[in-house]
Amino acid sequence: MDSITARGRPHHGTGIRITFVTMTVTPDRPVPNAAASPSSGIIDRFVASNREYAVEFRDGGMDARPVQKVAVVACMDARLDLFAALGLELGDAHIIRNAGGVVTDDTIRSLTISQRALGTRSVVLIHHTGCGLLGLTEDFRRELEAEVGQRPQWAVEAFVDLDGDVRQSMQRVRTSPFVPHTDDVRGFVFDVHTGLLREID
Ligand SMILES: [Zn+2]
Repeated sequence: MDSITARGRPHHGTGIRITFVTMTVTPDRPVPNAAASPSSGIIDRFVASNREYAVEFRDGGMDARPVQKVAVVACMDARLDLFAALGLELGDAHIIRNAGGVVTDDTIRSLTISQRALGTRSVVLIHHTGCGLLGLTEDFRRELEAEVGQRPQWAVEAFVDLDGDVRQSMQRVRTSPFVPHTDDVRGFVFDVHTGLLREID
């Protein structure tokens, strides 16, 4: 993938070629000097990358309403590149991510604002194979409480059945009294090895 002009909506003829820079993570890469300030690490790299990004950045004049009128709820997993996997372009969709891609009260908050204030109509839910939540249980929460002396307000939302949890998430959206448009809610499992989505009925 070397250019977004190859897919999606027509390019505006500026001739600007946008190249994605891939950050390669190598397990045996030298560990930064432990004595160095934490501020010399990854976030400084972000700031430097952003300066380069801004040089080519052009304000497309978009407003806050997603062009494709869709909100995507997905796991925060680092292997899941939603823009590439779904053919999304900047401005197309709301992307709501958390651990597991579960529909929590806060997810409903975002979906409610997405639909009622910003015009989206469709909801896509994406879980994935190899999810970090598959290995957790609510013991995580109890152990956390024992360690820090305070019970978290939130549930871990761990699950053992991927398909079942996607169904549960779709059901939470469809039955929410706050989300007005529930006729186009679909759920999928993304396979991190093949890159394919599998739809859950
Ligand atoms: Zn995950």
